[in-house]
Amino acid sequence: MGASGGIASRVNMGFESSPWPRVCDKFKHEFGQHAYTTWIGQLGYNGIDSGTVELTAPTKFVRDWITRHYAPRLKDFFLAEDPRVKSLSIRLAVARKATAPDDDVPAPEAAPAVQSEPTAEELAAGDESAALDPKYTFDSFVVGKSNELAYAAAKRIAESDTVAFNPLFLHGGVGLGKTHLMHAIAWEVRRKQPTKRVVYISAEKFMFEFIAALRFKDTHAFKQKFRAVDLLMVDDVQFIANKESTQEEFFHTFNALVDNRCQVVITADRSPTDLEGIQERIVSRLGWGLVADIHPTDYELRLGILQSKAEQAENVDVPAEVLEFLARRITSNVRELEGALNRVMAYATLVGRPITLDMTRDVLQDLIRANDRKLTIDEIQRIVADYFNLRLAEMLSERRARNIARPRQVAMYLSKQLTSRSLPEIGRRFGGRDHTTVMHAVRKVEDLRRDDSQLDEDITRLTRMLEG
Ligand code: ADP
Ligand code: MG
Repeated sequence: MGASGGIASRVNMGFESSPWPRVCDKFKHEFGQHAYTTWIGQLGYNGIDSGTVELTAPTKFVRDWITRHYAPRLKDFFLAEDPRVKSLSIRLAVARKATAPDDDVPAPEAAPAVQSEPTAEELAAGDESAALDPKYTFDSFVVGKSNELAYAAAKRIAESDTVAFNPLFLHGGVGLGKTHLMHAIAWEVRRKQPTKRVVYISAEKFMFEFIAALRFKDTHAFKQKFRAVDLLMVDDVQFIANKESTQEEFFHTFNALVDNRCQVVITADRSPTDLEGIQERIVSRLGWGLVADIHPTDYELRLGILQSKAEQAENVDVPAEVLEFLARRITSNVRELEGALNRVMAYATLVGRPITLDMTRDVLQDLIRANDRKLTIDEIQRIVADYFNLRLAEMLSERRARNIARPRQVAMYLSKQLTSRSLPEIGRRFGGRDHTTVMHAVRKVEDLRRDDSQLDEDITRLTRMLEG
């Protein structure tokens, strides 16, 4: 999504000249904190020189990885900040050791010496604490129908000192709280059972470390590290699909842990059986424990999440109608929902005005458009007929009885409000009626809404059903 496109970021431009922090933010937003820390967070930014963004990487490995996986998006992010950007250049940072790094020829002895500093540091630091977000706790996780099983299972694992189900496999689309739940497990275990060794790692980083271990001929330490744990959590395993040797190692680690009755928790963006490019035996073993999926959010959950986030924000008052509006209109995922709320709050703080519905619409224009489902007249007719307990044919018929004509007018009114169809087009879709009939219906309903509170409520409810 274009978190940067709105008014809020335009306001920002004036007092911040380096695009780097904003590029980093966008990267985090799109790829997550973890990928940021592992890769982009290691880069140095040296400015833009006649269209070329100058970056430095601590190691060749990091540089190559970023070049292969993230360079095009990074360039997009820079381009959005500065339209003159033409290319990226990532050079190796000057080594602290005496040997100068050679870009292209990896001298067998020199390479590890140059690389050992940051990489070894990173490996040794352990991912556990560095990678855990203090905001991702069970307390801050809002439970609804779509995630209650995943939540209960995660909670159970965090609280029990025996192995409950092994592995716990959580899956669901992006931004629905998988990583949040994993971190919550880690925090809770650390609090309640501090002697337990917990490792949280993204599958991407697992692979990175494994490859690094191969390079430094240190696979023994790698194996030790992962096999001496009580609780291993591997996030986003779809990432190691098609990566044969990493899968192999992952599988051995996984088996060793399960055989030792250590708890394993895994997440992916799809179910075990839908994982492509992952060996059959791994897939089948992944499904042995409990498989819990997180469904897309519904309106109530979205509203609950927004309320909880708005409560946490100090000094900013977000009116209920704004929260409802966001919950109704931003349906893609929770990350985007949070982003939207943050943007509105940031904007209001910057311009020093209270948050209103109009301001929200304005600030979030691009987001709202991207989330707009294309509602069809068919859908509106079906839902309105259903709502008033009419058959569709009945509602579209010529009959003028009030209990049929009124819902028909409501459906016309909603078609006008919620789609971009013209009056003649709407008329045609309502059994070939004239556009003046539609216009009359729209006016009529507008008038009625003012006096008839029941009808007004019906329409509010219908709008919610159709938009949410
Ligand atoms: P995933 O790993 O499934 O892609 P994340 O765990 O990164 O998603 O969640 C994205 C964002 O949405 C995070 O900031 C997280 O805190 C928030 N979030 C997701 N689900 C919930 C929830 N049920 N309650 C509160 N916050 C949530
Ligand atoms: Mg995640």
